[in-house]
Amino acid sequence: MNHQPTPLITPDVLVIGAGPAGLTAAAELARLGAGHVLVVDREAEAGGIPRHSDHTGYGMRDLRRFISGPAYARYRVKDATEAGAEIRTRTMVTGWEDDTTVEVTSPDGRYRIRPRALVLATGARERPRAARRIPGDRPHGVYTTGQLQNLVHLHHQPVGKRAVIVGGELVSWSAAVTLREAGCTPALMVSQYPKAESYGAFNAAGRTVLRVPVATRTRVTRVIGKGRCQAVEIAHLDTGKRRTIECDTVVFTGDWIPDHELARSAGIELDRATLGPLTDTALRTSRPGVFAAGNLVHPVDVADAAALDGKHVAEQVVHHLHGRPQPTQGLRLLADAPFRWIAPQILRPGDPAPARGKLLLWTDEFVRVPKVTVHQDGRVITRRTSPWPAAPGRVFRVPFTWLDGVSREGGPVHVSVG
Ligand SMILES: Cc1cc2nc3c(=O)[nH]c(=O)nc-3n(C[C@H](O)[C@H](O)[C@H](O)COP(=O)(O)OP(=O)(O)OC[C@H]3O[C@@H](n4cnc5c(N)ncnc54)[C@H](O)[C@@H]3O)c2cc1C
Repeated sequence: MNHQPTPLITPDVLVIGAGPAGLTAAAELARLGAGHVLVVDREAEAGGIPRHSDHTGYGMRDLRRFISGPAYARYRVKDATEAGAEIRTRTMVTGWEDDTTVEVTSPDGRYRIRPRALVLATGARERPRAARRIPGDRPHGVYTTGQLQNLVHLHHQPVGKRAVIVGGELVSWSAAVTLREAGCTPALMVSQYPKAESYGAFNAAGRTVLRVPVATRTRVTRVIGKGRCQAVEIAHLDTGKRRTIECDTVVFTGDWIPDHELARSAGIELDRATLGPLTDTALRTSRPGVFAAGNLVHPVDVADAAALDGKHVAEQVVHHLHGRPQPTQGLRLLADAPFRWIAPQILRPGDPAPARGKLLLWTDEFVRVPKVTVHQDGRVITRRTSPWPAAPGRVFRVPFTWLDGVSREGGPVHVSVG
């Protein structure tokens, strides 16, 4: 048999994922003169999640104004294209041929890409019902917010008439807006926390404007329905009391997991807490020449933060293209409970501060007045009170300067809250 090798292209930089992080990285790389910058995305159109998140709330930190998700996606695509980056859609990276060569499938067939540097910007997704281990039937009408918005905004398909939303994060209110637009009543939102995880203003507005009651300290224990969903059973976490809520639609929101399959299959080291690639403040991964940005690294933050990550990583990629050697030793940053994770996780001498000069953390408990402590080898480096509460379901930011005083020769640096 005649085995022709699949075609090979060799751009200077390959960005995998045309969401806010990937597109911003590509635009900045092109502007910085990084050469041929190629962005690939498996979807039919570039733009990432904002494309089907059809409500306002995008662009505050990077564009200094609020616009809708689709408008934000269009802006990012135009900016990358005008800067000179090439975007290929319907092009999915399926695996690795070697440390620096990836395999793709596209409408033009299969081919290989061997760039001089690579940025992974594959985002994060909500855990679907199966991954949350919720027993019961397997009926139709059960979605994540991403699936719901895809169905409603991209495919203009009907959903049901009465929904239960699982989770109380910002994204959960986004699901409520979409359900209302689709003519489906959000009958109940359930949150395992003592109050919905989203900002107080969103919770109040959601309850009054969208008229969604919230059942707190509650979880879904069963999905009921043969064929179409008919109800869910919910249980109060403290009393154990159960009740059945009739609904033909269930939306599982939040509970994020990075889209890390490519990083994992490459053998790139993952952080055990975020489950995304372990990165330093320059957003390098454990593989030389492979960087990571956006929600793949911090599942999840808002789109403008992902975009500013993209801008940050671009400069570091250019240093790599110019031959700056990969530093070896680094200090590990660790988050103590109730923090679940911290990103980035490695501090190396000579590296820049992280994007926007902030370390990102995720908490599993509400802390109204967070007293944050940075400590190393039993020594307190900083103890400061944050003006912002820490809440589950959204990123908590800590100024990088709070790590001033850390010894580069010492052990791991812990960040805790009380
Ligand atoms: C329902 C919802 C509402 C939201 N509302 C807001 C809001 O109001 N304001 C706000 O600022 N943020 C909001 N967000 C968050 C925001 O959308 C994300 O923070 C942002 O999209 C993250 O950007 P990203 O580039 O990291 O990833 P993504 O936007 O997820 O983009 C990743 C891209 O990678 C592609 N990809 C993955 N794997 C491959 C592969 N193997 N090959 C090729 N392509 C691949 C995907 O197709 C995707 O296009 C919302 C999110 C959701 C889910």
